[in-house]
Amino acid sequence: MKILVAVKRVIDHNVKIRVKADGSGVELANVKMAINPFDEIAVEEAVRLKEAGKATEVIVVSIGDIGYQETLRSAMAIGADRGILVQRSGELTLEPLDIARLLQQIVEREQPDLILLGKQAIDDDCNQIGQMLSALLDYPQATFASQVKLEGQSLQVTREIDGGLETLEMPLPAVITTDLRLNEPRYATLPNIMKAKKKTLDIIDITDMDFTPLGQIKTLSVSEPKKRAGQCTLLSSATELVSALQAKEVI
Ligand code: AMP
Repeated sequence: MKILVAVKRVIDHNVKIRVKADGSGVELANVKMAINPFDEIAVEEAVRLKEAGKATEVIVVSIGDIGYQETLRSAMAIGADRGILVQRSGELTLEPLDIARLLQQIVEREQPDLILLGKQAIDDDCNQIGQMLSALLDYPQATFASQVKLEGQSLQVTREIDGGLETLEMPLPAVITTDLRLNEPRYATLPNIMKAKKKTLDIIDITDMDFTPLGQIKTLSVSEPKKRAGQCTLLSSATELVSALQAKEVI
């Protein structure tokens, strides 16, 4: 039983995002990057399934520039067995459906039984690729998973929905997207970071894939959110707050 996990490289969630002066995007030069947090959860879940004897191999895959090698090595330090990078130049713009089409080709090559993705990438917040991939493959999907149970060829996934939990059952192969409460990813230990450096990382140049970008979506501009109008005022008591609210001095 093979598990394939799709991993995106994003700006580390602790970094303050800066928009480029020309509004063409966000500043990436000399910025700390990390695995998309939902993808880290997906890798952790796949590794746990392997440790529980329910999977034999965990493969991590990315579509990205050369910097993605570091991200894939981090995923392998968590416990993935090998990585695949579909390498593209930094200038090439890909939209979610392009990424899903490229992942589809990797799925067709690798024939995994289970595909895990994050529910969304924290940089573009698209929340599209898992759903698109399952449609392209015509596989069943369970999005926003908060629990995964695998028994033989049957998969049970619990999802957090408005007002409760929904549990779905589906056959393999299937696509799952992970939510925050699925698990808490482990910290990679130094020996595992060292071991990850020796694991196989196959690099496929995007030009060797049967692929032409769709070019349907163009980013016109990126801008920072508007600054908040009101300044923060510190009041010393509830009485003062009530008076200020009555006088509409605070919002
Ligand atoms: P999105 O639909 O863009 O919010 O991304 C959803 C998920 O798709 C992410 O959490 C990743 O698992 C996967 N994904 C997005 N971009 C890439 C990429 N460039 N390479 C590999 N997987 C990706």
